[in-house]
Amino acid sequence: MIPSAVRRLLVHLYGKVLMKTSGCPFCKIIAHEMPATLAYQDDRCIVIEDIHPQAPIHLLVIPRRHLATLAEAAEEDEGLMGHLLIVAARVAQERGSHSYRAVINTNAEAGQTIYHLHVHVLAGRVLRWPPG
Ligand code: ZN
Repeated sequence: MIPSAVRRLLVHLYGKVLMKTSGCPFCKIIAHEMPATLAYQDDRCIVIEDIHPQAPIHLLVIPRRHLATLAEAAEEDEGLMGHLLIVAARVAQERGSHSYRAVINTNAEAGQTIYHLHVHVLAGRVLRWPPG
């Protein structure tokens, strides 16, 4: 049996290899090569509905520029990262939510499955703390 830490590392590396060999699904959505339900867009990001919603409102704020994880964000990305959070707040409020959660899962153990940084916006139900 493979120790869990090694298994997680393999899943993480496989995910990254998969993105490089088969193409990033979010980049494909941004390039109009893959369908998605668009909720908002501007010159720096798009917002789509999550295809596996975990709450009545579950949106993904995705930068147009491919950045694999938050861990790879650099000082030059400060403006972009701030923009993503401002957009997250705006789209949640536009859906009538004044209580919402903005989450960035970083790497496999934290639940990141698509290696193109994105902000989950969850609302429309009571969100427990700590998350699972
Ligand atoms: Zn991408």
